Amino acid sequence: MKMLNEINDIVIAPHFKLSEFACPCCQQVMLHPLLLEKLNKLREMVIRPIFISSGYRCPKYNLKVGGIKTSYHLLGLAADIRVEGISIFDLLEYAESIEFPGIGFYEKKNFLHLDVRPTKHARWRG
Ligand SMILES: [Zn+2]
Ligand SMILES: [Zn+2]
Repeated sequence: MKMLNEINDIVIAPHFKLSEFACPCCQQVMLHPLLLEKLNKLREMVIRPIFISSGYRCPKYNLKVGGIKTSYHLLGLAADIRVEGISIFDLLEYAESIEFPGIGFYEKKNFLHLDVRPTKHARWRG
């Protein structure tokens, strides 16, 4: 049904739609404005589309993909992103310059986990 395909189909920032952050299993979504603001800054720096491979996750979906119980994806504070045509190292440098509080560097899988956790900064490699 067309109506349902339009759920979350709302432009929320110059380069992002709400639907890009929705849980793939249920289309529920939570999104912190600071995460969106920082992603939009990153988008303007890389001048390429940012593909959100995982934004908000409901508890069921988080379990399915093997996310940890305390994942910031459950709170709308995290996004996993991939950008074509730029090295993952350059992408990491841009993300660092925007000061995302949490950055997971997944070199082999070619993506970054970015979050706006309220606690102290965290950096890790996956
Ligand atoms: Zn879900
Ligand atoms: Zn993640």
